[in-house]
Amino acid sequence: METVHAATITTVEQVTAHMVRVGLRLDDPAAWVSDGTPDECVHVEVGAETADADGHSARHYTVSGHTPDGFEMEVFLHGDGPGATWARTARPGDRTEVSDSKGYYEVPDGAGVRVLVGDATALPAIARVLAEATADEVFHVVVELSDMADARDLPTAATATIDWRLAGNGMRASVLKDALAELADGLLAPAAASYVWVACEAKESRAIRQMLRRELGLPLTHFRIVGYWHFDLAHAIRVWEEASETTKAEYMALWRDDRTDEENWVELEPFLQKMGA
Ligand SMILES: Cc1cc2nc3c(=O)[nH]c(=O)nc-3n(C[C@H](O)[C@H](O)[C@H](O)COP(=O)(O)OP(=O)(O)OC[C@H]3O[C@@H](n4cnc5c(N)ncnc54)[C@H](O)[C@@H]3O)c2cc1C
Repeated sequence: METVHAATITTVEQVTAHMVRVGLRLDDPAAWVSDGTPDECVHVEVGAETADADGHSARHYTVSGHTPDGFEMEVFLHGDGPGATWARTARPGDRTEVSDSKGYYEVPDGAGVRVLVGDATALPAIARVLAEATADEVFHVVVELSDMADARDLPTAATATIDWRLAGNGMRASVLKDALAELADGLLAPAAASYVWVACEAKESRAIRQMLRRELGLPLTHFRIVGYWHFDLAHAIRVWEEASETTKAEYMALWRDDRTDEENWVELEPFLQKMGA
C-alpha cells in the first residue's frame, strides 16, 4: 500500500497548446519522499471512477520540477480521460492526493550518448533530464508530437540534438521505433555504448524493447523502456479482468525484486503476448 499525501493546487498555467503545468503544495512537504531521478513520477488522484490497467484510479504524472513546499507536473491534454479532464479543469485551491515518487532513468557507468525518445507525455521527463544534465553529457532526443505547437525550447548545459517529428500520440502512427532503427549503425551500434530511455504508448514501447534487445542486441543495462499509456485502455483492462487467478499470480511472480525491471521484461513480454495483451 503506497503512502498518500494531501496537496493543494497552487498554480495552473498553459505551457504549450496542449500542455498544462500544475503546481502543488503538499500539506506536509517533509513527509513526501522523492526518489530524485529526473523522470520520477507520482500517482495523482484525479477523481477517476474506474481503475486503469494497473488497478489505479489515480493517474501517473512526472514531477517536472520541485518547489519549496511541493512540486510541479505537466499534463498533456490528449482527450477526455479522467487525468486530462482533471488538468483541464484544475484551479488553484483544488485539493488532491499524491504518492511518493519513483523513477526509471539510470545511466550506467561508462555509457556514451544518451538517446531519449518519447511522445508528448515523455516531454516533462525529457525536459527535466536535459535541464539537470551536465556540460560533458551528449544527448540525441527524438520527440513525436501530434501538433508542432507543442514543441518548445529544452534548455540544457549539455550538447543535445533534438529531432521533432509530427506523429503518434494516438492521432497518427508512431514513428519512434523507426527513428530508433535509423540509429542502428551509429548511436545504437553496440560499440557506441549509448544509453537509451524511451517513454510512449505501451504497445509501441514493447515493440521498441523487442527491437533493442533482440535485433540490435543492446545489453539490458543500456536501455530503459517505460509504457506510459494505453491506446486501447479498455482492451488492456479486459485482458487482465478475463485472466484466471493462476495466470495473474504467475504474472505477478515474474516481477521479481532481485532483478531489474528490464531483466523482468525478458520473461514478461512473452507472457503478456500469451495473455493476448
Ligand atoms: C511513469 C509515467 C509518467 C508519466 N508522466 C506523464 C506526464 O508527465 N505528463 C502526461 O501528460 N502524462 C504522463 N504519463 C501518461 C499518463 O499517465 C497517461 O496518458 C494516462 O493514461 C492519462 O490518463 P487519462 O485519465 O487522461 O486517460 P486514461 O483514462 O488513462 O485513458 C483513456 C483513453 O485516453 C487515451 N489516452 C490516454 N493517454 C493518452 C495520451 N497520452 N495520448 C493520447 N491518448 C491518450 C487512450 O485512448 C485511452 O484509452 C505518464 C505515465 C507514466 C506511466
